[in-house]
Amino acid sequence: MQQRSEIVGRIGATSYDVCVIGGGASGAGCALDAQLRGLKTVVVDAGDFGSATSSASTKLIHGGLRYLQQAMVEWDIGQYRVVRGALRERIFMLRNAPHLTGVLEFAVPCFSLIDAVYYSVGLKLYDWLAGKAVLRSSFFLGRTRALARFANLNGSGLFGAALYSDGQFDDSRYNLALIRSCSDAGGDVLNYAAVTGFTKDRHGRLATAEVEERQSGTHLSIRANAFLNATGPFSDRLREMASPGITPRLILSKGVHIVLPLPAGFGNDAVLIPKTEDGRVIFAIPWQGRLLVGTTDTEATLDEVPSVTRAEAEYLLRHLNRYLTPPSTRSAIVSAMAGVRPLVRSGKRSRTSKMVRDYEIEVEPRSGLISVLGGKWTVYRLMAEHAVDAVQRGLNGKITPSRTRNYALLGSESHTIEAAENLAAIHGIAPDIARHLVDKFGSCALRVLELVRADASLGARIVPGAPQIAAEVVYCVREEMAMGIEDILSRRLGLQSFDWRLAIEAASAVGNILARELGWPRTRTGEEIRLYVDRIRASSEALGIDLVHAGTTQ
Ligand SMILES: Cc1cc2nc3c(=O)[nH]c(=O)nc-3n(C[C@H](O)[C@H](O)[C@H](O)COP(=O)(O)OP(=O)(O)OC[C@H]3O[C@@H](n4cnc5c(N)ncnc54)[C@H](O)[C@@H]3O)c2cc1C
Repeated sequence: MQQRSEIVGRIGATSYDVCVIGGGASGAGCALDAQLRGLKTVVVDAGDFGSATSSASTKLIHGGLRYLQQAMVEWDIGQYRVVRGALRERIFMLRNAPHLTGVLEFAVPCFSLIDAVYYSVGLKLYDWLAGKAVLRSSFFLGRTRALARFANLNGSGLFGAALYSDGQFDDSRYNLALIRSCSDAGGDVLNYAAVTGFTKDRHGRLATAEVEERQSGTHLSIRANAFLNATGPFSDRLREMASPGITPRLILSKGVHIVLPLPAGFGNDAVLIPKTEDGRVIFAIPWQGRLLVGTTDTEATLDEVPSVTRAEAEYLLRHLNRYLTPPSTRSAIVSAMAGVRPLVRSGKRSRTSKMVRDYEIEVEPRSGLISVLGGKWTVYRLMAEHAVDAVQRGLNGKITPSRTRNYALLGSESHTIEAAENLAAIHGIAPDIARHLVDKFGSCALRVLELVRADASLGARIVPGAPQIAAEVVYCVREEMAMGIEDILSRRLGLQSFDWRLAIEAASAVGNILARELGWPRTRTGEEIRLYVDRIRASSEALGIDLVHAGTTQ
């Protein structure tokens, strides 16, 4: 990726075809699509790329069984359409970044013959809606075989389990792969750059986006022919900036996950808890050596940074413990995350959990702002395709075909276990480190190891027992625009979601490498480490979990 200072310098002096605002799934997808169509593109994000909703998802590439259930019960054609569209997109997401994705099998526990018939028929419909893009056909396992395969299912009253397949992915690294692929294709990308306002031409159309570059405090004016608002839950704020007084379109819904140690014998398959007290479903999913459990669905605002409360964790544990053994307790939680869904108002439905996860591309006729509203990760590519069609329609009316359906993302060349074994053998590194590097960086793992070849000390583990090494931090600063400790430990290396305690332990080492790479003075380094550790401690305290006093020395 290009140097940040060069990009900052260039942005103010360039006239772009498209300025994409927001670098989450929607914005990163739009920026890549636009750049690949030959449009001169810049994408800016107020925080780190993917730092809002796009790194707090359930990490499923799916049509959404819950939405299909709603479609069946309520004869809702809108829900069918959304599920079908997402199922067909699933295959592109899997194919374009195999190092960051995989196929998971899910068990839906059934406690009666009626349950078994209901879920088996529903899952056949799910297969059918996927058409040729079906991953593996669904099937039913009787009680004995279900318990043999899912050792942790609570056997009391169990009739059997219906099995189906969906995709799983590393959401924050997928987000980065989109951003880096856009940059590789010639687009300009900049994080920590917030749009604070617009200027307009004499016809009232947007002329520039006014941007505050938050690392240096520099003010930038971005000139572009089209402005694409892809700010997810913040979209109404940008719409208001462009057209004061405009009617809001979004309803926000908070969703949380807790992370638990993976129970012994859990295996590689996931469990779908089909009924909750509030008529939802909950997933228990093996995720990078842990069990990811979620999610919830409650109306939210943007007033505060979303966090997981004790009551939300207890809600998830209560349902989990009805279906899985041995029971888990709150004190076993090792990490947690919360995000805010941007849902488009449908007019009819009041409960967020009942709202269709559809999307809309809005073109505001006076200002010309194009907003990508709603949707979900799985359909980011399709939303981007439609949004960039709208951009081209507004520019000169000539729509060129999107190239993203079959566009391999950066790092996707090697991703197999053999690739990791080769890496371990050739570079003399431990197998767990090799596997971790291939999982996170794909073929770019070789670039990380080049740093180790130049300086052997960078091959050291950041914390004992975890596979993350110092070279990754250097690589993420130089090649992935990481600017802070959380950028590294949360979105790029995955240690924060794996274990808060380990993340606290790693904070000093990471802070010191960042200080060297970014030229932070000593006082700033200490402050950054302290702030990071305080944030993690506050998250754990909100859950009532006491983290040990892990190292905070420089
Ligand atoms: C709990 C939960 C679980 C989910 N699970 C799944 C799942 O398993 N599968 C699935 O397909 N979908 C899932 N989703 C939905 C999916 O995560 C979201 O639809 C998607 O991530 C939204 O992406 P986005 O880019 O629109 O928004 P965001 O990721 O929120 O990105 C918006 C970006 O805009 C930036 N921004 C805001 N204001 C400005 C400004 N003024 N200037 C510049 N930048 C700005 C923000 O910093 C942010 O990075 C889930 C959502 C939640 C909450």
